[in-house]
Amino acid sequence: MLIDNHGRKIDYLRLAVTDRCNLRCNYCMPAEGINFAKPTQLLSTEELKRVATSMVELGVNKIRLTGGEPFVRKDVMLLLRHLSDLKGLQDISITTNATLIGKHINELKELGIQNINVSLDAIKKETFEKITRRKTYDIVRENLNRLLEEDFNVRINFIVLEGQNETDIIPLLEEMKNYKVGVRFLEEMPFNGGSKSFGSIKWHHKAILEYISKTYPKYQKLDSPATSTSMNYKIEGHLSTFGIIPSFSRTFCGSCNRLRITAKGDVITCLYGKPKTNIRTLLRTATTDIAFKEAIMEAISTRAKTGFEAQSEHQETIFDNSMTSIGG
Ligand code: SAM
Ligand code: SF4
Repeated sequence: MLIDNHGRKIDYLRLAVTDRCNLRCNYCMPAEGINFAKPTQLLSTEELKRVATSMVELGVNKIRLTGGEPFVRKDVMLLLRHLSDLKGLQDISITTNATLIGKHINELKELGIQNINVSLDAIKKETFEKITRRKTYDIVRENLNRLLEEDFNVRINFIVLEGQNETDIIPLLEEMKNYKVGVRFLEEMPFNGGSKSFGSIKWHHKAILEYISKTYPKYQKLDSPATSTSMNYKIEGHLSTFGIIPSFSRTFCGSCNRLRITAKGDVITCLYGKPKTNIRTLLRTATTDIAFKEAIMEAISTRAKTGFEAQSEHQETIFDNSMTSIGG
């Protein structure tokens, strides 16, 4: 079992499989993209499989594939097939922009992969395409509808962006009210790779809740697992639930159970921190995974207690990064 230096159990791995993406969301990266990793810098499928296997042996029971856009990677189903065979792995989840998932939906179902987070930052086509800088709204809605109709456990991630999508919040809740889906509103974080300047945020978690409660005064707070990053609610008469994630205010760090490994093999123990180590060379040179496991244990033994503490480790450079490299 992995326990960090603050006594927190680490049982959730967010594994980025690529830093590339077919969208250019303006809160994530600049229009021209970022300095993407070279193919040789990315972990291969075999290396990703080894990472997943070793992490499960170390006590991880949940793996979320993220990126970049995971389905940009042509071999992602090979990895998902491997994950679905791993004993001890109870939860396989994916975070996706839902542009390319369509042709894989049947196989995901066959593999028993149920938990899909879809990023949808607008319900109006024009707003969506302005934010993502690509014309993919129709396919995203088609794939999202399929996932909902085929009973996947879908959560929608919506970053609340000042001056861009606030007026889509209520229409999105309305549109989803007859589906069993969790709609989650996230505070914007400063990891946009220099796409735009970032100061304080208008839409912090309290402002989001206050805004929603003006239209829907009858809502109830739901119990959430201790490690949940969202505060969850149900509006009277809605089948859907909604959640609010204080990703910038960082009120949830005390119970953080997650570790991130990027597509290049950086080990990140806090979204706001610097990578602790890189495991790519270790994987490429060692014949067993002992050194890899030792590197992971070493990384979690020096973990910052909160995102604010992690941020102070690299105050000058923290906001240069793009979420497409970190994995969200
Ligand atoms: N491409 C996939 C997607 O968009 O769902 C997976 C990768 S994306 C980097 C993972 C998550 O990070 C998405 O839900 C996305 O909305 C979120 N994200 C990206 N940049 C962000 C930012 N600056 N602030 C908050 N969340 C962000
Ligand atoms: Fe791509 Fe996801 Fe970043 Fe949008 S948020 S640019 S879909 S990685």
